[in-house]
Amino acid sequence: METKTVNAYGTEKANAPLHSMNIQRRELLPHDIELEIHYCGICHSDLHQIKNDFGGTMYPIVPGHEIVGRVTKVGKHVNKFKAGDLAAVGCIVDSCGKCEYCQDDLQQFCDEGVTYSFNSPDKYLGGATFGGFSESIVTDEKYVLHMPETLDLAAAAPLLCAGITVYSPLKNWQAGPGKKVGTLGIGGLGHLAIKIAKAMGAYVVVFTTSPSKVEDAKCLGADEAVLSTDAEQMSKYARSLHFILDTVSTKHDVNTYLNMPRHDGSVVLVGLPPEPLSIGAFNVVVGRRSFSGSNIGGIAETQEMLDFCAKHNITADIELINIQQINEAFDRLEKGDVRYRFVIDMASLKK
Ligand code: NAP
Ligand code: ZN
Ligand code: ZN
Repeated sequence: METKTVNAYGTEKANAPLHSMNIQRRELLPHDIELEIHYCGICHSDLHQIKNDFGGTMYPIVPGHEIVGRVTKVGKHVNKFKAGDLAAVGCIVDSCGKCEYCQDDLQQFCDEGVTYSFNSPDKYLGGATFGGFSESIVTDEKYVLHMPETLDLAAAAPLLCAGITVYSPLKNWQAGPGKKVGTLGIGGLGHLAIKIAKAMGAYVVVFTTSPSKVEDAKCLGADEAVLSTDAEQMSKYARSLHFILDTVSTKHDVNTYLNMPRHDGSVVLVGLPPEPLSIGAFNVVVGRRSFSGSNIGGIAETQEMLDFCAKHNITADIELINIQQINEAFDRLEKGDVRYRFVIDMASLKK
């Protein structure tokens, strides 16, 4: 297969700095588009994967799955996009297209295994897929999203993973008027969960381990913000919420929150702590509560989320960096020192 060499940032092994490298992108197939990447967000999943937190990371790895930019070229059968269009690629770049999940636009659950935009087996070129810390990406138009023109493009990049990952469960568990929603953790996902749940009409209670974020949470739109290390405050929330979205990235005690939903309520995990979590039986048995999970969202739902965010003028609070600051950014993300998402200005790749 014909390929094109493009510049990217990645690493060959765990715990080694990312650096400039050349990678190959396939020449356009009839249904492919080429996207010049303008901005790419940095998700905690990028950090988990470069560190091989879950095992199975394929090196070299080029992370990045919150990708926005402009279409530069289209294949001869492309009809959704033309050169010059604003567009985006999120977490998914391929799936079988035939199984019941793909047919239902739930590509994230594809029976044959979804192809993520980075660190998945690349069906075309072999090796692993390379993500958005690069000049450009080539993707079948089925997996490319239309970016609303009204949103600030850099601040909208995190919607492509953080946004859809919280939108999908908030919608599925029916966050809306009359519902009290709890969110755990104010990071990239958590701060967007506050904004999106509020826009859906829910009453939002935020739980944070960081005293300095309590005031911020109110500015982000939360109705109440609780310091989760304060046992007295925490005890007031027993049996008071309908649904809790847990975005915490490291091992934590979910039992502290499992008594907070009312009967039939759920705690839904989207965070990916690498270690197993334990659950006290009485916390789910009493009140018929559920502990559940959710994985990103399908392509149609991602487009729906982008349109919802455009309608409600929702973007992430970002710190824009140059690609040369990437290793410092990952160190700071690991320490929880980001308000609330790093986004890379990919023009810096040419510096
Ligand atoms: P992030 O920006 O680092 O935010 C994580 C937040 O978790 C932190 O800001 C912190 O909030 C809280 N936290 C960290 N350590 C904690 C601890 N020991 N106890 C309690 N809270 C703690 O990360 P992110 O990008 O939002 O991603 C969050 C998680 O979701 C990651 O594991 C990521 O891999 C995962 N993820 C999953 C999906 C999916 O489809 N399921 C998609 C994207 C990301 P406070 O300071 O407010 O306490
Ligand atoms: Zn992500
Ligand atoms: Zn499928």
